[in-house]
Amino acid sequence: MSTITRSDYDHYIVPVYAPANFIPVRGQGSKVWDQEGREYIDFTGGIAVNVLGHAHPALVEALNTQANKLWHVSNLFTNEPALELAKKLTDATFADRAFFCNSGAEANEAALKLARRYAYDNFGEEKFEIISTLNSFHGRTYFTVSTGGQEKYSKGFGPKIEGISHVPYNDLAAMEAAISEKTCAVILEPIQGESGVLPAEQAYLEGVRALCDKYNALLIFDEVQTGLGRTGKLFAYMHYNVIPDILSNAKCLGGGFPIGAMLTKEHIAKHFSTGTHGTTYGGNPLACAVANKVMDIVNTPTVLEGVEKRHQLFVQALERMGKPYDLFSQIRGKGLLIGCVLTPQWKTRTSEIIKAAAQHGLMILQAGPEVIRLAPSLIIEETDIQEGINRFEQAIKHLL
Ligand SMILES: *Cc1c(COP(=O)(O)O)cnc(C)c1O
Repeated sequence: MSTITRSDYDHYIVPVYAPANFIPVRGQGSKVWDQEGREYIDFTGGIAVNVLGHAHPALVEALNTQANKLWHVSNLFTNEPALELAKKLTDATFADRAFFCNSGAEANEAALKLARRYAYDNFGEEKFEIISTLNSFHGRTYFTVSTGGQEKYSKGFGPKIEGISHVPYNDLAAMEAAISEKTCAVILEPIQGESGVLPAEQAYLEGVRALCDKYNALLIFDEVQTGLGRTGKLFAYMHYNVIPDILSNAKCLGGGFPIGAMLTKEHIAKHFSTGTHGTTYGGNPLACAVANKVMDIVNTPTVLEGVEKRHQLFVQALERMGKPYDLFSQIRGKGLLIGCVLTPQWKTRTSEIIKAAAQHGLMILQAGPEVIRLAPSLIIEETDIQEGINRFEQAIKHLL
């Protein structure tokens, strides 16, 4: 194994990514070590995935226990971990039904297909239009990337999927102008994650909910990134008290094991009748066993209140750290999905900042061109927060 190097990436992997120049080999809590044994504080959480950090003993135990019992049986059979997880998720949310898959994109793919089928069955084939927002991100399958509001990801792949339009985010008048009897669904992230950690305004989500009701359109919340405790509530819609018809989740749900879920109401779910949609691995016992444990731990007052406390610690430390360098113009986001908006003098240097941070033993993320995004473990230790911010400052000093 010691002969594996970072340059192998450039020889053997389809080059859709440009990974950092070190290879992580081990993680524990909010720390990661690379091949050379160098230590990093992890503020990325595997892009908002490692909800309980690395190698959490309870998740390791849940995975190992299930690994010794049953890995996979296909959806010709159901299994106990999947049923248990569906019960937990529906008990804890607006939803009555769950559909399991393997990623965020697949959860959104299911949501969008279900919305179209629901409209087709109830209102006829003219009602198929989907309204999404500019700069949104919904995944990389063909339907989801076409639904996402970033042209750079969807162009160059042949004819577009018909009936999808994009309006500015947090702009209720634009939504009102776009929506009609032909609209089958509106899809929104309660906080736009990938494009810069931009939260929806309360009046916006309430207004979109009312418009969807008026036009018999389903409201889909893409909570792939915001769900499962990330924002300090189990799901972000709970901050707003605006209830979607369909919700997608993935990332935090598996704590690092691939799983996605689409949640919805009974009267909508029934339009996915036997055979209309499916997936080989969805509801896999290994994934669901881990997700059950994630739910048990995260959906507790201790962890969720801890997210809010850590949010405050981060915001105070970041503001104090950034001040002498005029680094940030705003710190925004909810819970442990934090966007640090760079000032005009720093915003062209985002990738330099991320590289310098890695050199100083800190993993951080970008979101959009000018935002540093932090999405650490929900149970990150206070000492790791302080040490991470110290390393962040060292990196910035290095760039002066
Ligand atoms: C990450 C993300 C997705 C895509 O999830 P994958 O697991 O990469 O397919 C979709 N929507 C949002 C909001 C995301 O953050």
